[in-house]
Amino acid sequence: MTRRFRCAAIPVLLCASALAPAAAEAKPRVVATLADLWAVTEQLVDGQVDVELATHFGQNPHDFEIRPSQILLVKRADLLIRNGLEEDAWIDPIVESSGNPKLLRGSPNVVEAAQGVQVLKIPRGPIDRSLGDVHPLGNPHFVADPRNLPIVSANIVAGLSRIMPELAATFEANRTAFLAKVGAAYAGWRQTLAPHRGFGLVSYHDSWPYFEQAFDLAECGIEEDRPGIPPSPQHLTLLIRAMKEKRCTVILHESWYPTDVSAFVARETGAKVLIVPQTPGAVPGTKDYFTWMDFLVDSLARALP
Ligand SMILES: [Zn+2]
Repeated sequence: MTRRFRCAAIPVLLCASALAPAAAEAKPRVVATLADLWAVTEQLVDGQVDVELATHFGQNPHDFEIRPSQILLVKRADLLIRNGLEEDAWIDPIVESSGNPKLLRGSPNVVEAAQGVQVLKIPRGPIDRSLGDVHPLGNPHFVADPRNLPIVSANIVAGLSRIMPELAATFEANRTAFLAKVGAAYAGWRQTLAPHRGFGLVSYHDSWPYFEQAFDLAECGIEEDRPGIPPSPQHLTLLIRAMKEKRCTVILHESWYPTDVSAFVARETGAKVLIVPQTPGAVPGTKDYFTWMDFLVDSLARALP
């Protein structure tokens, strides 16, 4: 399956500079590519600046159609916060179409959130993206380990402070408060999941290696053959066998994928399917970092033996 970056339907005028630039004294515009980065940035700006999301909450960020509204959003933006591990490579054609050179990679107006994070599952050997691998530089779902937030938030605060130096001290204070809250919450989440330590999880997509690392859980198997590729029957047969052998009884099904494969695997193994938000806001009531993690931790604590 090829990745879908479609820009054909975008009117030429919108791609050109037909729209007036924002007034010089207007507040800087901050855009995050993904809902997890949006949720962290919201905590760091704490109402001082509007942070916009380039996707919709609950939209699969691995595969979607580019819309004219996204080009407009990027055209007007002053700071772009992106994942840094190609989870959101679709932003590149949007930036190119927007004609906003400030948001090209390498610009001080671009934050690569992954910088400095210890990346898991870096592929060995050559990567062929035509095969559909959407994690070419390693697993990009690092925000799901709260212990990565000191690094991720430092990257974001550095970017915010570059474009709004007058607010640098405020952002740093917000960051300190946010990390203190995360530290306390993490201790609670760990306590909730402590009885299930070592338990193996199955998921549709390879979304949870950092989450598993954070809570001493294990990976039992993944329904997709490789990230972004629908499972083959052979792969599912092996997965089902492994789940029976290792007694894996919980499937984390990211809400934006069709449920047929997970339902089939559940029927074959007797496992329970939990519909979960891969990122904040993907299911109702999980739009901020804490409610998102609460949802994941509480659902698992109820479902795990
Ligand atoms: Zn992914």
